[in-house]
Amino acid sequence: MKYEPVIGLEIHGELLTNSKMFCSCSADYGSAPEPNTNICPTCTGLPGAMPVVNKKATELAALVGLALNCSINKHNTFARKNYYYPDLPKGYQISQYELPIAEKGSLDVNDGSENQLKVRVRRVHIEEDTAKLAHEKNYALVDFNRAGVPLLEIVSEPDIRTVEAALDYATKVRAILRYLGVNSGDMEKGVLRFEANISVRPVGSDEFRTRTEIKNLNSFRALVRASQYEIERQIKIYEEGGRVVQETLGWDDVRGVTTSQRSKEEAHDYRYFPEPDLPPLQLSDAWIESIRTQLPELPEAKTARFISDFGLTPSEARFLTSDMALANYFESVVAKSKSPAKTVHSWLAGELMRQLNDSNTDIKDSPVSPETFAQLVDMVNDKMISGNAGKVVLRELFEHGGDPARIIKDKNLAQVSDTGFIQEAIDKILNDNPKEVEQYLAGKETLFQWFMGQVARATKGKADPNVAKELMVKGLEERKK
Ligand code: ADP
Ligand code: MG
Ligand code: ZN
Repeated sequence: MKYEPVIGLEIHGELLTNSKMFCSCSADYGSAPEPNTNICPTCTGLPGAMPVVNKKATELAALVGLALNCSINKHNTFARKNYYYPDLPKGYQISQYELPIAEKGSLDVNDGSENQLKVRVRRVHIEEDTAKLAHEKNYALVDFNRAGVPLLEIVSEPDIRTVEAALDYATKVRAILRYLGVNSGDMEKGVLRFEANISVRPVGSDEFRTRTEIKNLNSFRALVRASQYEIERQIKIYEEGGRVVQETLGWDDVRGVTTSQRSKEEAHDYRYFPEPDLPPLQLSDAWIESIRTQLPELPEAKTARFISDFGLTPSEARFLTSDMALANYFESVVAKSKSPAKTVHSWLAGELMRQLNDSNTDIKDSPVSPETFAQLVDMVNDKMISGNAGKVVLRELFEHGGDPARIIKDKNLAQVSDTGFIQEAIDKILNDNPKEVEQYLAGKETLFQWFMGQVARATKGKADPNVAKELMVKGLEERKK
């Protein structure tokens, strides 16, 4: 029997506010000098401390809701989610339960075979992050600096049917959060975490079978590997006539297996109830509309525009729009350059990205400005310099800065389309290599590239390749006679 997976994702992302969700401590807990210095009675749950809602966090949450095509609940409420764990000082987490700030949205994703799939977003709600535990040998240490940092939870419906689609959904959500400036997307820092709910069923069936939930996936790679593993594990259980038990799993990245954390029988009853210390949030239409006006052009729309305005392929456009800073850089180069957008794309996606990756530099901090990059692309496009020389100039610009025209002059890189100079080089090559000429004329046509390589070497890459090619063809023809 053939099985298909059913996947629903829960995504937790911290919000980039100045202060924590319910107190005025800094949300930038990473900058705290020592553990337990970025704390106050509210975020450490001291008796009598009262929470106050962070206005900015509600704005950012609504912005995310709108970006994910959700409807905003004008009346939404906070709830207590009760459980005990040492990283939760109050003994409950303030969250949203019955009435989240946003619900019923959707996101179009690619299912891995270039088909579009609409994944429904069930809800987007506000909650608070927990403290951090450090487990030592016989004891654990707790650091409350992170406790109470605004956290957003985005829950999908179980609409996802392939691991590729799960990856695309997670990738798109991350890109949207970054576009909106609400989350850095730095998964190594733990500011964005995934949970995958997974079940499998026979292809063609429309029942939902028992699911498991894999917690705290801290990278795209972990999401993919854990999901694949869990799908295989469940299929094997059914094939052997067993049944899947509903449980919460962890992912062991080293061993590459999911591990049981707790089963349904031990599952929490969170005893949610309305948070008595916080009034419901009442949002006006005008407020919601003012948030809507802050929405930037989102990756999906930008991709479509890049395809139609710049003649890029979908995958080229998707690459450029995967990051707003990259898309902006591309657009400013195109605006300043006379070269086709396709050419700009290929230099950007190729050489510039290589330099950025090699030096671990973000495009935002590129030492080569869009103006300078545009000049360089134009010089190659105008055949003032060869492609290879362009790479040399770019490396120089990247490492030492400066002006492309100056570098070309200093390094004597200007391309020559003067036929006399090129002809001379070709004649010498053909005269010096009679054996190769003979083989070529006898039918070994692959040698042509070798001859061209000799030209590039002899002219130090300064010969215009089109002119050289033409003269080379002629030179070889003549030797036929
Ligand atoms: P709750 O967390 O309140 O129990 P649900 O169990 O309905 O809520 O859903 C939690 C997550 O699990 C959602 O992302 C949902 O899409 C997903 N999910 C629910 N049922 C299944 C299933 N049978 N298979 C895979 N995922 C599921
Ligand atoms: Mg959950
Ligand atoms: Zn505090």
